Amino acid sequence: TKFSDLDLDPKVLKAVEEAGYTTPTPIQAGAIPAALQGRDVLGIAQTGTGKTASFTLPMITMLGKGRARARMPRSLVLAPTRELAAQVAENFDTYAKYTKLTKALLIGGVSFKEQDQLIDKGVDVLIATPGRLLDHFERGKLLLTGVQIMVVDEADRMLDMGFIPDIERIFSLTPFTRQTLFFSATMASEIERITNTFLSAPEKIEV
Ligand code: AMP
Repeated sequence: TKFSDLDLDPKVLKAVEEAGYTTPTPIQAGAIPAALQGRDVLGIAQTGTGKTASFTLPMITMLGKGRARARMPRSLVLAPTRELAAQVAENFDTYAKYTKLTKALLIGGVSFKEQDQLIDKGVDVLIATPGRLLDHFERGKLLLTGVQIMVVDEADRMLDMGFIPDIERIFSLTPFTRQTLFFSATMASEIERITNTFLSAPEKIEV
């Protein structure tokens, strides 16, 4: 398979090719077609396998030309740490550079003001750590009822850090009809329970 066989938005494909990638990694070859068909994805993959692009590329493609509305992001990516969230945001910027999609990075350790301003204007993609996302929600600054695509990255680390209750809460704030792309390096029983609860007939890809 090549990226050009995958039905990605031509703008995304152009950015991928500029980044120098021609052949999808196994997690990408499995997750991208399933996600583009609208299916939930359960990816069992470690860092370094190319999993960030495996959710970022279909997400950008599917958000397409739609328009963001104030305080109602259209998609949400949750990552366990500030560093990981920032990496996802960098990847998004690279792959979305030829689109008009917008993002906000919601992480702790920086002031709310700038993040509030972006959310108020409306963003297509929110990339966040769970605690900071819920802080914004509790402050009444944000609605998650417009989320069409939700990504959970590195769920096993979220479990180690005690974020599972936050993740369940966030799931419950998003529409039942959302599409979910869920990634974990391992399938601990607690992770399995969450995926059984919140994913709908996922395509399971183990690499
Ligand atoms: P990740 O597992 O998402 O952290 O990605 C690991 C590294 O692989 C990153 O530096 C990516 O830029 C790179 N990468 C992602 N997809 C591909 C690909 N299809 N071919 C070669 N490198 C890739």
